[in-house]
Amino acid sequence: MPPSGSIENDTMQIKIGILEVQGAFQEHKVALMKAQKLLDIETNIQVTEVRHPDHVTDDLDGLIIPGGESTTISLFLKRNGMEEPLRKWMDEDRHVSWGTCAGMILLSKFTENQKQGGQPTLGKLDTVVSRNFFGRQVHSFEAPVTVQEKCLTKTDTDTDSFHGVFIRAPAVVEVCDPSVTVLAKLHRPDKNDDVIVAIQQGNVMATAFHPELTEDVRWHLHFLEMVKNAKK
Ligand code: GLN
Repeated sequence: MPPSGSIENDTMQIKIGILEVQGAFQEHKVALMKAQKLLDIETNIQVTEVRHPDHVTDDLDGLIIPGGESTTISLFLKRNGMEEPLRKWMDEDRHVSWGTCAGMILLSKFTENQKQGGQPTLGKLDTVVSRNFFGRQVHSFEAPVTVQEKCLTKTDTDTDSFHGVFIRAPAVVEVCDPSVTVLAKLHRPDKNDDVIVAIQQGNVMATAFHPELTEDVRWHLHFLEMVKNAKK
């Protein structure tokens, strides 16, 4: 019996966990299944919920931390003894993580504008992330983000623009290590600046917006490719 994740008969087994505390579990799952069809090798993807330390198993190849309220999610992780198992799991190079919105906040080592008392984070990214960077709920908006990296514009029909759905979104206000790659920026014409809204550092990716709420599965495809490469 080959180990889980090996390529047998040209089919790769991939197991993705989605942290299911709040937020878009189902939407991420649907997008992953759509993206799977675009991968260049045959894959068998199993999507599983992660809500308990026992779910954080070594055979999990990837983890998505969806949006929600970062304070609530981190409290849930703390109360259920999940912080340590998740941190340990993430320390393995073959394990790939992706945080969207609140997930970005949890994955950053440093946060600004956090609730009083702070919120413990999983702290993998050498970045400073500012919570509610664009304002409160009323400041949720949709706007095009500009993709900075070729990994997201692979086919002839891909453009460097992606429809960003921002819901009380954070932003990366400082990159603290050269190994952090900026994947996408948002141009704000009123402020005439470019805000960092997607990053990757090694096997960890974070997006301030919600790709799972759009039809464009390029971010899910990129995540699956990171998982695939980490298994090689
Ligand atoms: N503003 C929220 C927080 O601080 C994040 C919002 C979201 O995930 N859509 O956690």
